[in-house]
Amino acid sequence: MIPDDFKQQLLSRVDIVDVIERHVPLRKAGQNFVARCPFHSEKTPSFSVSPGKQFYHCFGCGAHGNAISFVMEHAGLGYVEAVKELAGMVGMSLPESRPNAVPQNGAPEADLRATLLAAARFYKACLKRSDAAIAYLKQRGVSGEIAARFGLGYAPAGWQSLAEAFPDYRSSAALKDAGLVVDGENGRRYDRFRDRIMFPITDPRGNVIGFGARVFGEAAQEGPKYLNSPETALFQKGQELFGLYQARPAVRRHGRIVVVEGYMDVVSLHQHGVDYAVATLGTSTTPVHVAKLLKLADEVYFCFDGDDAGRKAAWRALENALDQLVDGKQLSFMFFPEGEDPDSYVRRCAADDVWTALPLSELMARELSRQVDLETVEGRAKLLQLAGPLVRKVPAPAFQLQLRRRFAKLAEVTVPELEELFGLRPVVSSPGAARRTGLARSPAMLSLTRWILHAVLNDPSLAARVEPAELDATDRFHPALCGVLELLARCPELGARDICAAAIEAARDGATAGLLREAHAEVLASEKVVSAAEFESALRTLRDRVERRRITELIAKAGRSAEEAEELERLKERVSQRAKQPAESILSSV
Ligand SMILES: [Zn+2]
Repeated sequence: MIPDDFKQQLLSRVDIVDVIERHVPLRKAGQNFVARCPFHSEKTPSFSVSPGKQFYHCFGCGAHGNAISFVMEHAGLGYVEAVKELAGMVGMSLPESRPNAVPQNGAPEADLRATLLAAARFYKACLKRSDAAIAYLKQRGVSGEIAARFGLGYAPAGWQSLAEAFPDYRSSAALKDAGLVVDGENGRRYDRFRDRIMFPITDPRGNVIGFGARVFGEAAQEGPKYLNSPETALFQKGQELFGLYQARPAVRRHGRIVVVEGYMDVVSLHQHGVDYAVATLGTSTTPVHVAKLLKLADEVYFCFDGDDAGRKAAWRALENALDQLVDGKQLSFMFFPEGEDPDSYVRRCAADDVWTALPLSELMARELSRQVDLETVEGRAKLLQLAGPLVRKVPAPAFQLQLRRRFAKLAEVTVPELEELFGLRPVVSSPGAARRTGLARSPAMLSLTRWILHAVLNDPSLAARVEPAELDATDRFHPALCGVLELLARCPELGARDICAAAIEAARDGATAGLLREAHAEVLASEKVVSAAEFESALRTLRDRVERRRITELIAKAGRSAEEAEELERLKERVSQRAKQPAESILSSV
């Protein structure tokens, strides 16, 4: 979507210190800056920003990334949005304007935004004039302050009330495209929202992108309880969360987020001090929602009614969550007693003791057990059959292990038996697993490859001394080193300032992201100045160890092919040559 060289240019133009300093006060400490971490709550600063290497790292919670990551995590933006925002800061514009964002012949995005904002102001002004709407909010315990925080409004009962705010009411394309009016038969245009409490839905920066509307009072018997803006170029229901803009500071402070189903519930919860509550927009929880929520907080609580509909909705959320699960995060489900909703519940209880809930694994066990008879062999077999596909979806290893144990116990089988049945690789390492990763397990090798990676990150010009053929071998020891070397082979112009940020970009969401994070933490802790001779000597040692290992491997192998026999001879020759040569002559021959 966004070309790699654009991302790299962007990263080399922005200064991560500027980007972070806009939101977090930084203090200089040696070559770096430190601050209290914006991603977890702490008293002493463990959040470091490296101006020389253009990345941040928190030694407390492991938050880690480049300028793009910071904008994404801190503002809760999507990747493209974050890149756009940063590009705007340094006066660059995205090479390709998204052609699908605005429907053909539709109103431009800027018009939609201006129209939505004007409508939100109009509804807000109308609320002040409507005694009935004010009485309803008061009766729900909503204070003026909370109403203002959410920008609540009132859509008057008339059919064309918006005409008061929009002189071009009859002709405006933006009003139609923003979903505020409906063009009826014989061309008569009328307001979509009438006689309802209006809840502006905002993007993570607080811009209005749509509305949710709730009936109240006498009208409550007619029509649906909630009515939403239709999906528009700006507003996709399956992605947005109501109240996120208002909840973000508290979410960050508590490391916790509560997800409910109604807008009014969010407002009530904030009113009662649960100011980390958000709502899905009249849709079930989607995988996009779950991914977003898990990025924002370590503990995510989904709240549902205790009835059948609530249980079904919870199960759908669970299914959508499985392949988004991340170790170290906790997803829980909470069911309100029948006849209660979050609003009445939180009014009855103190805010803090509200959130006792079922962890995801327990909900899964409970719901699946309900469908079978665990007293019988057939029932237990059926349980495994039901659980298998769900457990397999979970990418987080520790989490999956928990689930394996839970279901093995329920079905009265051992964990290895269950793994066999589910076709899962055993978590506990077997001789087979050790063989697959045997070389990488050697601590000497690990520390050597890490040393080399550290040296390259501090001085990328060293990478030119690594032979391309070596990449292959390195891959088996330290994939993050290999990734960095490949990156440098593609972009030899990358310097010490930008290598870390570029490596984070290249490894974004990839398997090596964790290894890079560790390497960068080491880089922060110590600048390693390495001479070319030292570096080459390390490479030589690595090459030597790789070849000796391979020799051992080949000798141990029973049926060697002709090529393997040849390889063995060649390696033996090389290793013995190297042993005979004095170090200096090897250095000069590289
Ligand atoms: Zn932190």
